[in-house]
Amino acid sequence: MNFENSLAAARKMDQEDQLRTFREEFLFPQHDGRDVVYLTGNSLGLQPKGAADAINQELKDWHEFGVEGHFEAKNPWYAYHEMFAAPLAKVVGAKESEVVAMNGLTTNLHLLMVSFFQPKGKRVKILCEAKAFPSDLYALKSQLRFHGIEEEDGLIALEPRKGEHTLRTEDILKAIEDNAEELALVMIGGVNYYTGQVIQMKTVCAAAHAVGVLCGFDLAHGAGNVELKLHDWGVDFAAWCSYKYLNSGPGSVSGVFVHERHHGTDLPRFEGWWGHDKNERFKMGSNFKAIHSAEAWQLSNAPVLAMAVHKIALDQFMRAGMDKVRSKSLQLSSFLRYIIEDTSSKNEGVEFEIITPKADEERGSQLSILVHGEGKAMFDHLTKNGVVADWREPNVIRIAPVPLYNNFEDCFRFGEVLQDFLDA
Ligand SMILES: *Cc1c(COP(=O)(O)O)cnc(C)c1O
Repeated sequence: MNFENSLAAARKMDQEDQLRTFREEFLFPQHDGRDVVYLTGNSLGLQPKGAADAINQELKDWHEFGVEGHFEAKNPWYAYHEMFAAPLAKVVGAKESEVVAMNGLTTNLHLLMVSFFQPKGKRVKILCEAKAFPSDLYALKSQLRFHGIEEEDGLIALEPRKGEHTLRTEDILKAIEDNAEELALVMIGGVNYYTGQVIQMKTVCAAAHAVGVLCGFDLAHGAGNVELKLHDWGVDFAAWCSYKYLNSGPGSVSGVFVHERHHGTDLPRFEGWWGHDKNERFKMGSNFKAIHSAEAWQLSNAPVLAMAVHKIALDQFMRAGMDKVRSKSLQLSSFLRYIIEDTSSKNEGVEFEIITPKADEERGSQLSILVHGEGKAMFDHLTKNGVVADWREPNVIRIAPVPLYNNFEDCFRFGEVLQDFLDA
Protein backbone atom coordinates (compact mmCIF):
# COMPACT_ATOMS: atom_id res chain seq x y z
CA MET A 1 0.00 0.00 0.00
CA ASN A 2 1.22 3.51 -0.79
CA PHE A 3 0.83 5.78 2.19
CA GLU A 4 1.60 9.45 2.64
CA ASN A 5 2.58 11.06 5.93
CA SER A 6 0.18 13.99 5.97
CA LEU A 7 -2.95 15.05 7.77
CA ALA A 8 -4.82 15.34 4.47
CA ALA A 9 -3.93 11.77 3.52
CA ALA A 10 -4.98 10.49 6.93
CA ARG A 11 -8.30 12.33 6.74
CA LYS A 12 -8.94 11.01 3.26
CA MET A 13 -8.51 7.45 4.49
CA ASP A 14 -10.86 8.22 7.37
CA GLN A 15 -13.51 9.43 4.93
CA GLU A 16 -13.25 6.22 2.97
CA ASP A 17 -13.35 4.03 6.07
CA GLN A 18 -16.57 1.99 6.24
CA LEU A 19 -16.29 1.65 10.03
CA ARG A 20 -15.69 5.36 10.71
CA THR A 21 -19.02 5.98 12.46
CA PHE A 22 -18.24 3.47 15.22
CA ARG A 23 -15.80 5.96 16.74
CA GLU A 24 -18.78 8.10 17.73
CA GLU A 25 -20.09 5.22 19.84
CA PHE A 26 -17.17 5.44 22.31
CA LEU A 27 -16.17 7.71 25.18
CA PHE A 28 -12.64 9.09 25.01
CA PRO A 29 -10.52 10.36 27.92
CA GLN A 30 -9.71 14.07 27.41
CA HIS A 31 -6.39 15.89 27.25
CA ASP A 32 -6.26 19.68 26.89
CA GLY A 33 -9.89 19.74 25.84
CA ARG A 34 -9.67 17.16 23.09
CA ASP A 35 -9.85 13.39 22.74
CA VAL A 36 -6.58 11.68 23.59
CA VAL A 37 -4.86 9.57 20.97
CA TYR A 38 -5.85 6.33 22.66
CA LEU A 39 -3.55 3.51 21.58
CA THR A 40 -3.97 1.11 24.51
CA GLY A 41 -7.05 -0.82 23.48
CA ASN A 42 -4.83 -3.89 23.87
CA SER A 43 -4.81 -3.22 27.63
CA LEU A 44 -8.24 -1.74 28.24
CA GLY A 45 -10.68 -1.04 25.44
CA LEU A 46 -12.61 2.24 25.59
CA GLN A 47 -16.09 2.50 27.02
CA PRO A 48 -18.95 2.10 24.54
CA LYS A 49 -21.46 4.91 25.08
CA GLY A 50 -24.18 2.31 25.52
CA ALA A 51 -22.51 0.84 28.62
CA ALA A 52 -24.34 2.94 31.21
CA ASP A 53 -27.78 2.24 29.67
CA ALA A 54 -27.02 -1.46 29.49
CA ILE A 55 -26.09 -1.61 33.17
CA ASN A 56 -29.04 0.61 34.11
CA GLN A 57 -31.44 -1.75 32.36
CA GLU A 58 -30.33 -4.53 34.71
CA LEU A 59 -30.44 -2.24 37.77
CA LYS A 60 -33.95 -1.19 36.80
CA ASP A 61 -35.07 -4.79 36.36
CA TRP A 62 -33.49 -5.71 39.68
CA HIS A 63 -35.42 -2.83 41.29
CA GLU A 64 -38.68 -3.78 39.62
CA PHE A 65 -38.56 -7.55 39.79
CA GLY A 66 -36.17 -8.50 42.57
CA VAL A 67 -35.48 -12.22 42.36
CA GLU A 68 -38.10 -12.62 39.62
CA GLY A 69 -35.68 -10.81 37.33
CA HIS A 70 -34.10 -14.20 36.69
CA PHE A 71 -37.14 -14.88 34.51
CA GLU A 72 -38.95 -11.53 34.15
CA ALA A 73 -36.09 -9.17 33.30
CA LYS A 74 -35.92 -7.84 29.76
CA ASN A 75 -32.92 -10.13 29.31
CA PRO A 76 -33.71 -12.90 31.81
CA TRP A 77 -30.70 -13.40 34.06
CA TYR A 78 -31.28 -17.13 34.26
CA ALA A 79 -30.19 -17.54 30.65
CA TYR A 80 -28.11 -14.36 30.41
CA HIS A 81 -24.86 -16.05 29.40
CA GLU A 82 -26.62 -17.77 26.50
CA MET A 83 -26.81 -14.47 24.63
CA PHE A 84 -23.04 -14.63 24.18
CA ALA A 85 -22.83 -17.94 22.36
CA ALA A 86 -23.66 -16.55 18.91
CA PRO A 87 -21.41 -13.48 18.92
CA LEU A 88 -18.50 -15.21 20.69
CA ALA A 89 -18.69 -18.07 18.19
CA LYS A 90 -18.17 -15.49 15.43
CA VAL A 91 -15.35 -13.72 17.27
CA VAL A 92 -13.27 -16.88 17.79
CA GLY A 93 -14.44 -19.05 14.90
CA ALA A 94 -16.34 -21.69 16.81
CA LYS A 95 -19.68 -23.46 17.00
CA GLU A 96 -22.08 -21.87 19.44
CA SER A 97 -21.93 -24.96 21.61
CA GLU A 98 -18.16 -24.55 21.95
CA VAL A 99 -18.05 -21.16 23.68
CA VAL A 100 -19.25 -19.72 26.95
CA ALA A 101 -18.71 -16.46 28.83
CA MET A 102 -17.75 -16.98 32.46
CA ASN A 103 -15.32 -16.03 35.26
CA GLY A 104 -11.99 -14.27 34.80
CA LEU A 105 -9.28 -15.31 32.38
CA THR A 106 -6.73 -16.77 34.78
CA THR A 107 -9.49 -18.57 36.65
CA ASN A 108 -10.57 -20.12 33.37
CA LEU A 109 -7.05 -21.15 32.43
CA HIS A 110 -6.90 -23.07 35.69
CA LEU A 111 -10.31 -24.65 35.18
CA LEU A 112 -9.38 -25.70 31.67
CA MET A 113 -6.07 -27.16 32.77
CA VAL A 114 -7.89 -29.25 35.34
CA SER A 115 -9.41 -30.93 32.29
CA PHE A 116 -6.65 -30.65 29.72
CA PHE A 117 -3.43 -31.01 31.68
CA GLN A 118 -3.30 -34.64 32.71
CA PRO A 119 0.32 -35.60 33.33
CA LYS A 120 0.81 -39.34 33.11
CA GLY A 121 3.96 -41.47 33.22
CA LYS A 122 6.65 -39.76 31.17
CA ARG A 123 4.22 -37.24 29.73
CA VAL A 124 4.35 -34.48 32.30
CA LYS A 125 5.57 -31.39 30.46
CA ILE A 126 3.93 -28.19 29.29
CA LEU A 127 5.35 -26.25 26.35
CA CYS A 128 4.84 -22.49 26.51
CA GLU A 129 6.63 -19.33 25.38
CA ALA A 130 9.31 -17.80 27.61
CA LYS A 131 7.82 -14.33 27.32
CA ALA A 132 4.35 -15.46 28.32
CA PHE A 133 2.16 -13.06 30.28
CA PRO A 134 3.18 -13.43 33.95
CA SER A 135 -0.26 -14.60 35.08
CA ASP A 136 -0.10 -17.45 32.55
CA LEU A 137 3.31 -18.50 33.85
CA TYR A 138 2.03 -18.44 37.43
CA ALA A 139 -0.94 -20.54 36.38
CA LEU A 140 1.22 -23.05 34.49
CA LYS A 141 3.79 -23.37 37.25
CA SER A 142 1.21 -23.77 39.99
CA GLN A 143 -0.62 -26.40 37.92
CA LEU A 144 2.65 -28.31 37.65
CA ARG A 145 3.26 -28.07 41.40
CA PHE A 146 -0.32 -29.13 42.03
CA HIS A 147 0.54 -32.36 40.24
CA GLY A 148 3.77 -32.69 42.21
CA ILE A 149 5.98 -31.71 39.27
CA GLU A 150 8.93 -29.32 39.70
CA GLU A 151 9.16 -26.40 37.31
CA GLU A 152 12.53 -27.63 35.98
CA ASP A 153 11.00 -30.99 35.16
CA GLY A 154 7.76 -29.73 33.75
CA LEU A 155 8.05 -26.38 31.99
CA ILE A 156 9.55 -25.91 28.55
CA ALA A 157 9.58 -22.16 27.91
CA LEU A 158 10.59 -21.32 24.34
CA GLU A 159 12.95 -18.40 23.77
CA PRO A 160 13.39 -16.60 20.47
CA ARG A 161 16.76 -17.25 18.81
CA LYS A 162 19.65 -15.07 19.88
CA GLY A 163 19.31 -11.61 18.40
CA GLU A 164 15.65 -12.21 17.47
CA HIS A 165 12.55 -11.00 19.25
CA THR A 166 9.85 -13.37 18.11
CA LEU A 167 9.50 -17.12 17.92
CA ARG A 168 9.97 -18.95 14.64
CA THR A 169 7.24 -21.43 13.82
CA GLU A 170 9.86 -24.01 12.82
CA ASP A 171 11.41 -23.73 16.29
CA ILE A 172 8.06 -24.30 17.99
CA LEU A 173 7.45 -27.34 15.80
CA LYS A 174 10.93 -28.67 16.51
CA ALA A 175 10.43 -28.28 20.27
CA ILE A 176 7.19 -30.24 20.00
CA GLU A 177 8.92 -32.97 18.02
CA ASP A 178 11.98 -33.09 20.28
CA ASN A 179 9.79 -33.44 23.36
CA ALA A 180 7.08 -35.54 21.77
CA GLU A 181 7.29 -38.34 24.32
CA GLU A 182 7.31 -36.08 27.36
CA LEU A 183 4.76 -33.42 26.53
CA ALA A 184 1.34 -33.44 28.11
CA LEU A 185 0.23 -30.04 26.84
CA VAL A 186 1.08 -27.17 24.52
CA MET A 187 -0.27 -23.92 25.99
CA ILE A 188 0.80 -20.70 24.28
CA GLY A 189 -0.45 -17.13 24.03
CA GLY A 190 -2.05 -17.00 20.57
CA VAL A 191 -0.94 -13.39 20.23
CA ASN A 192 2.06 -12.48 22.37
CA TYR A 193 1.28 -9.57 24.66
CA TYR A 194 4.80 -8.13 24.48
CA THR A 195 5.74 -8.41 20.81
CA GLY A 196 2.29 -8.59 19.21
CA GLN A 197 3.38 -11.70 17.30
CA VAL A 198 0.57 -14.00 16.18
CA ILE A 199 1.49 -17.65 16.69
CA GLN A 200 0.58 -19.90 13.76
CA MET A 201 -2.08 -21.61 15.80
CA LYS A 202 -3.34 -24.01 13.16
CA THR A 203 0.17 -25.31 12.41
CA VAL A 204 1.21 -25.54 16.06
CA CYS A 205 -2.01 -27.31 17.02
CA ALA A 206 -1.62 -29.83 14.19
CA ALA A 207 1.97 -30.54 15.25
CA ALA A 208 0.90 -31.13 18.85
CA HIS A 209 -1.92 -33.44 17.79
CA ALA A 210 0.43 -35.35 15.46
CA VAL A 211 2.36 -36.49 18.53
CA GLY A 212 -0.72 -37.07 20.67
CA VAL A 213 -0.51 -33.86 22.69
CA LEU A 214 -3.37 -31.51 23.54
CA CYS A 215 -3.15 -27.87 22.56
CA GLY A 216 -4.71 -24.74 24.05
CA PHE A 217 -4.25 -21.01 23.54
CA ASP A 218 -4.57 -17.94 25.71
CA LEU A 219 -6.32 -15.46 23.45
CA ALA A 220 -6.29 -12.40 25.71
CA HIS A 221 -4.67 -10.49 22.83
CA GLY A 222 -6.33 -12.51 20.10
CA ALA A 223 -10.08 -12.25 20.68
CA GLY A 224 -11.47 -9.26 18.79
CA ASN A 225 -8.06 -8.59 17.24
CA VAL A 226 -7.10 -11.29 14.74
CA GLU A 227 -8.89 -13.87 12.65
CA LEU A 228 -9.52 -17.04 14.65
CA LYS A 229 -10.89 -20.39 13.50
CA LEU A 230 -10.62 -22.39 16.66
CA HIS A 231 -13.07 -25.07 15.59
CA ASP A 232 -11.55 -25.67 12.16
CA TRP A 233 -8.03 -25.57 13.50
CA GLY A 234 -9.01 -28.30 15.93
CA VAL A 235 -7.77 -26.39 18.99
CA ASP A 236 -8.67 -28.29 22.16
CA PHE A 237 -9.38 -25.29 24.37
CA ALA A 238 -8.84 -21.55 24.65
CA ALA A 239 -9.67 -18.66 26.97
CA TRP A 240 -9.62 -14.89 26.61
CA CYS A 241 -10.64 -11.75 28.44
CA SER A 242 -13.22 -9.22 27.28
CA TYR A 243 -11.73 -5.97 28.58
CA LYS A 244 -8.89 -5.63 26.04
CA TYR A 245 -9.91 -5.70 22.38
CA LEU A 246 -13.50 -6.59 23.29
CA ASN A 247 -14.18 -3.27 25.09
CA SER A 248 -16.32 -4.79 27.84
CA GLY A 249 -14.94 -2.88 30.83
CA PRO A 250 -12.29 -3.40 33.52
CA GLY A 251 -12.16 -6.96 34.81
CA SER A 252 -15.19 -7.95 32.77
CA VAL A 253 -16.10 -11.54 32.12
CA SER A 254 -13.77 -13.95 30.31
CA GLY A 255 -14.72 -16.43 27.61
CA VAL A 256 -13.71 -20.00 26.94
CA PHE A 257 -13.70 -22.37 24.01
CA VAL A 258 -13.85 -26.14 24.38
CA HIS A 259 -13.80 -28.10 21.13
CA GLU A 260 -16.93 -30.18 20.64
CA ARG A 261 -14.91 -33.39 20.52
CA HIS A 262 -14.46 -32.96 24.28
CA HIS A 263 -18.13 -32.41 25.10
CA GLY A 264 -19.79 -35.30 26.88
CA THR A 265 -16.47 -37.06 27.50
CA ASP A 266 -15.23 -38.18 30.88
CA LEU A 267 -12.50 -35.57 31.17
CA PRO A 268 -11.93 -34.54 34.76
CA ARG A 269 -13.52 -31.19 35.53
CA PHE A 270 -14.28 -28.96 38.49
CA GLU A 271 -18.04 -28.73 38.52
CA GLY A 272 -20.77 -26.37 39.68
CA TRP A 273 -24.53 -26.01 39.32
CA TRP A 274 -24.37 -23.79 36.23
CA GLY A 275 -22.74 -26.62 34.30
CA HIS A 276 -25.59 -28.95 35.19
CA ASP A 277 -28.36 -29.95 32.78
CA LYS A 278 -30.62 -26.90 32.51
CA ASN A 279 -33.86 -28.83 32.60
CA GLU A 280 -32.99 -30.26 35.95
CA ARG A 281 -30.96 -27.48 37.53
CA PHE A 282 -33.67 -26.36 39.90
CA LYS A 283 -34.58 -29.87 40.96
CA MET A 284 -31.51 -29.41 43.15
CA GLY A 285 -30.44 -33.02 42.73
CA SER A 286 -27.20 -34.23 44.24
CA ASN A 287 -25.65 -35.79 41.13
CA PHE A 288 -24.04 -33.63 38.48
CA LYS A 289 -25.32 -34.12 34.95
CA ALA A 290 -23.18 -32.13 32.52
CA ILE A 291 -24.63 -29.95 29.79
CA HIS A 292 -23.45 -31.33 26.46
CA SER A 293 -21.49 -28.21 25.50
CA ALA A 294 -18.80 -25.83 26.74
CA GLU A 295 -21.40 -24.69 29.27
CA ALA A 296 -20.57 -27.80 31.29
CA TRP A 297 -17.44 -25.96 32.49
CA GLN A 298 -19.50 -23.17 34.08
CA LEU A 299 -19.63 -23.08 37.82
CA SER A 300 -21.78 -20.15 38.82
CA ASN A 301 -24.73 -18.08 37.73
CA ALA A 302 -23.88 -15.15 35.50
CA PRO A 303 -22.40 -11.84 36.75
CA VAL A 304 -25.07 -9.87 34.96
CA LEU A 305 -23.85 -6.30 35.60
CA ALA A 306 -20.47 -6.98 33.98
CA MET A 307 -22.06 -9.02 31.25
CA ALA A 308 -24.44 -6.19 30.37
CA VAL A 309 -21.51 -4.22 28.96
CA HIS A 310 -20.06 -7.30 27.28
CA LYS A 311 -23.36 -7.73 25.47
CA ILE A 312 -23.44 -4.30 23.86
CA ALA A 313 -19.69 -4.40 23.15
CA LEU A 314 -20.12 -7.64 21.23
CA ASP A 315 -23.15 -6.18 19.44
CA GLN A 316 -20.81 -3.54 18.02
CA PHE A 317 -18.53 -6.23 16.62
CA MET A 318 -21.49 -8.04 15.10
CA ARG A 319 -22.76 -4.84 13.45
CA ALA A 320 -19.29 -4.05 12.13
CA GLY A 321 -18.51 -7.60 10.99
CA MET A 322 -15.34 -9.42 12.01
CA ASP A 323 -13.92 -9.32 8.46
CA LYS A 324 -14.19 -5.56 8.26
CA VAL A 325 -12.72 -5.16 11.73
CA ARG A 326 -9.71 -7.23 10.72
CA SER A 327 -9.15 -5.54 7.39
CA LYS A 328 -9.32 -2.07 8.91
CA SER A 329 -6.99 -3.22 11.68
CA LEU A 330 -4.37 -4.29 9.13
CA GLN A 331 -4.72 -1.02 7.23
CA LEU A 332 -4.54 1.15 10.35
CA SER A 333 -1.55 -0.58 11.85
CA SER A 334 0.24 -0.65 8.48
CA PHE A 335 -0.29 3.11 8.27
CA LEU A 336 0.98 3.60 11.80
CA ARG A 337 4.03 1.47 11.05
CA TYR A 338 4.66 3.55 7.96
CA ILE A 339 4.37 6.78 9.96
CA ILE A 340 6.88 5.50 12.54
CA GLU A 341 9.32 4.27 9.92
CA ASP A 342 9.00 7.47 7.93
CA THR A 343 9.66 9.54 11.04
CA SER A 344 12.58 7.34 12.05
CA SER A 345 14.17 7.47 8.58
CA LYS A 346 14.07 11.28 8.58
CA ASN A 347 15.86 11.46 11.91
CA GLU A 348 19.31 9.96 11.76
CA GLY A 349 20.71 8.49 14.89
CA VAL A 350 17.26 7.64 16.19
CA GLU A 351 17.41 4.25 17.74
CA PHE A 352 14.16 2.43 17.82
CA GLU A 353 12.80 -0.51 15.93
CA ILE A 354 9.45 -2.23 15.62
CA ILE A 355 9.80 -5.80 16.85
CA THR A 356 6.30 -6.87 15.83
CA PRO A 357 6.38 -9.03 12.69
CA LYS A 358 5.43 -7.24 9.48
CA ALA A 359 3.55 -10.00 7.67
CA ASP A 360 -0.23 -9.70 8.04
CA GLU A 361 -0.70 -13.29 9.22
CA GLU A 362 1.85 -12.79 11.99
CA ARG A 363 0.38 -9.72 13.64
CA GLY A 364 -2.75 -7.99 14.82
CA SER A 365 -3.29 -4.32 15.69
CA GLN A 366 -0.36 -4.00 18.03
CA LEU A 367 3.05 -2.54 17.24
CA SER A 368 5.79 -2.96 19.83
CA ILE A 369 8.53 -0.39 19.55
CA LEU A 370 11.86 -1.35 21.06
CA VAL A 371 13.61 1.84 22.05
CA HIS A 372 17.35 1.89 22.58
CA GLY A 373 18.43 4.63 24.92
CA GLU A 374 15.80 7.19 25.78
CA GLY A 375 12.76 4.99 25.76
CA LYS A 376 11.24 6.20 28.97
CA ALA A 377 11.77 9.85 27.99
CA MET A 378 10.06 9.19 24.67
CA PHE A 379 7.18 7.47 26.42
CA ASP A 380 6.79 10.31 28.92
CA HIS A 381 6.74 12.81 26.06
CA LEU A 382 3.93 10.87 24.39
CA THR A 383 1.94 10.84 27.61
CA LYS A 384 2.45 14.56 28.24
CA ASN A 385 1.13 15.27 24.78
CA GLY A 386 -2.09 13.35 24.97
CA VAL A 387 -0.98 10.03 23.49
CA VAL A 388 -1.98 7.06 25.63
CA ALA A 389 0.55 4.31 24.99
CA ASP A 390 1.90 1.56 27.18
CA TRP A 391 5.39 1.14 28.62
CA ARG A 392 6.77 -2.32 29.30
CA GLU A 393 10.06 -2.75 31.09
CA PRO A 394 12.81 -2.79 30.14
CA ASN A 395 12.40 -0.82 26.91
CA VAL A 396 9.28 -1.42 24.88
CA ILE A 397 6.45 0.96 23.99
CA ARG A 398 3.34 -0.86 22.90
CA ILE A 399 0.69 0.85 20.80
CA ALA A 400 -2.39 -0.64 19.20
CA PRO A 401 -4.71 1.30 16.92
CA VAL A 402 -8.09 -0.35 17.33
CA PRO A 403 -10.41 -0.48 14.30
CA LEU A 404 -13.70 0.34 16.02
CA TYR A 405 -12.58 3.64 17.56
CA ASN A 406 -9.16 4.65 16.30
CA ASN A 407 -8.76 6.43 12.99
CA PHE A 408 -5.98 7.27 10.58
CA GLU A 409 -5.77 10.77 12.00
CA ASP A 410 -4.83 9.25 15.38
CA CYS A 411 -1.90 7.54 13.66
CA PHE A 412 -0.86 10.80 12.04
CA ARG A 413 -1.07 12.64 15.35
CA PHE A 414 1.08 9.96 16.97
CA GLY A 415 3.73 10.67 14.31
CA GLU A 416 3.56 14.40 15.00
CA VAL A 417 4.16 13.94 18.71
CA LEU A 418 6.99 11.52 17.99
CA GLN A 419 8.61 14.00 15.59
CA ASP A 420 8.24 16.70 18.20
CA PHE A 421 10.16 14.54 20.69
CA LEU A 422 12.92 13.88 18.18
CA ASP A 423 13.19 17.59 17.42
CA ALA A 424 13.66 18.45 21.09
C1 LIG B 1 -4.31 -9.55 30.09
C2 LIG B 1 -3.83 -10.92 30.20
C3 LIG B 1 -4.13 -11.69 31.34
C4 LIG B 1 -4.89 -11.12 32.50
O1 LIG B 1 -5.48 -12.10 33.28
P1 LIG B 1 -6.80 -11.82 34.13
O2 LIG B 1 -7.08 -13.12 34.74
O3 LIG B 1 -7.85 -11.34 33.17
O4 LIG B 1 -6.49 -10.74 35.12
C5 LIG B 1 -3.69 -13.01 31.36
N1 LIG B 1 -2.98 -13.52 30.33
C6 LIG B 1 -2.68 -12.80 29.23
C7 LIG B 1 -1.91 -13.42 28.10
C8 LIG B 1 -3.07 -11.48 29.14
O5 LIG B 1 -2.75 -10.76 28.08
